[in-house]
Amino acid sequence: MQKVIIAIDGPAASGKSSTARLLAQRLGYVYLDTGAMYRACALQAQREGLSLEDVDAIATMMDSINLRMDFAQEQNRVFLDDEDVSQLIRSESISKMSSAISALTPVRLKMVELQRRIAHAGGFILDGRDIGSYVFPDARIKFFLTADVDARAQRRLLELQAKGIAASFEDVRADLLQRDKNDRNRTLAPLVQADDAILIDTTLLTLEGQVDLLYQHVQKILGGL
Ligand code: C5P
Repeated sequence: MQKVIIAIDGPAASGKSSTARLLAQRLGYVYLDTGAMYRACALQAQREGLSLEDVDAIATMMDSINLRMDFAQEQNRVFLDDEDVSQLIRSESISKMSSAISALTPVRLKMVELQRRIAHAGGFILDGRDIGSYVFPDARIKFFLTADVDARAQRRLLELQAKGIAASFEDVRADLLQRDKNDRNRTLAPLVQADDAILIDTTLLTLEGQVDLLYQHVQKILGGL
């Protein structure tokens, strides 16, 4: 069976990454977390003390950034030079910064090029905001995941609490709305549902239910696996 490209897009905390990771395991595909790539760019800018207003400085940073993704383990690992920054990029400050930096053209062009280079041969599930609409507009299968903002905020809050990070429901909810707004309103490759994407509302679904549903769609489209 030919291995295709599967795009999973949607707003923050809609369940994309857990679903993509488990679906990839089930299908024998490789999962690529494109959000992690923008997060690593944000961390690099933070470390260099760059202002995101200074697009020239960010462009220079992007010329020399040494970002590497490793798919060998179940979760993607992200490296800046030889340092594994996979945990560091999950902080709330990096979440905010990644949303802002991902709107900058030199950042996006470089990350999109890398994503295309990594996944073009197929057998990849990519999750992000613009995979089906911009990075791989010809992807064979596209999903767009949504969920009620309160449900998304609740999930993100539980994730943070599990990591021992204190946060309030209101703050988390406001941050998600702000990031969605940034993502939907940027000029280059905004968050948008591709015309041919299958819309899945995960508000009332369990993670297992989500994965089953996407798996069934994939089977139907590819004619059994
Ligand atoms: O998916 P995640 O929350 O880790 O992504 C972090 C940020 O990176 C998002 O808020 C979004 O602004 C940006 N992003 C993007 N395009 C993608 C993936 C993520 O703009 N394909």
